[in-house]
Amino acid sequence: MAINDTPRHQGMRKKLVEGLKIKGIRDENVLAAISKVPRHLFMESTFIQFAYKDQAFPIGAGQTISQPYTVGFQTQLLQVGKGDKILEVGTGSGYQAAVLLEMGARVFTIERQKELYARVHQFLPEIGYNPACFFGDGYKGLPGFAPFDKIIVTAGAPEIPEALIYQLTFGGVMVIPVGNDQKQEMKMVTRLGENEFKTENHGDFIFVPLLKGTVNF
Ligand code: SAH
Repeated sequence: MAINDTPRHQGMRKKLVEGLKIKGIRDENVLAAISKVPRHLFMESTFIQFAYKDQAFPIGAGQTISQPYTVGFQTQLLQVGKGDKILEVGTGSGYQAAVLLEMGARVFTIERQKELYARVHQFLPEIGYNPACFFGDGYKGLPGFAPFDKIIVTAGAPEIPEALIYQLTFGGVMVIPVGNDQKQEMKMVTRLGENEFKTENHGDFIFVPLLKGTVNF
């Protein structure tokens, strides 16, 4: 696939990144990754005025591509280092996975809706991003591929799924929005030892819900 990414798109991304800096995203590696990933290619509609606004956007199957500020905020909390092995729960459009790959991480991403999984599994490699994509229930994580240095959950969970925190390395970090369907609090969980965890809160966000089971169409 020829990648339609022009100087105009790049200019709009630069502006988006300037806006994210003003809103408090400071991690230079996060900002650099957002300035590289062509967000307009991740949307059904390629209207760039939507792609480069700091807003969430519908991607089909009742789901959304997260707002760039939210992607920046979660990614910053994750303290991504080159070579980190990262599990993403909620592939959605694949945009967050692409940002993590730009930062040099090894990415495993899982999605419960087959339609979205299939689309991303085909599309991301076409634009040069190669995460390991899985169709399944991310509540359970990926026990066969654990442990992970980092876990990022991009849907709002009613509580912290126990299966996930036990798939972290010691010293590993999980970032997850936890709450009800109105709003969730961004939690950062660090695994300190076998059964020892530290949890910090980082403010309110609104995500689509983390749901159990899979959707096979
Ligand atoms: N990270 C995405 C945002 C996705 S929105 C992006 O960058 O575009 C949240 C996604 O989580 C939706 O696609 C939804 O279907 C998915 N999801 C919800 N519950 C899930 C679960 N238990 N396992 C895997 N994916 C889940």
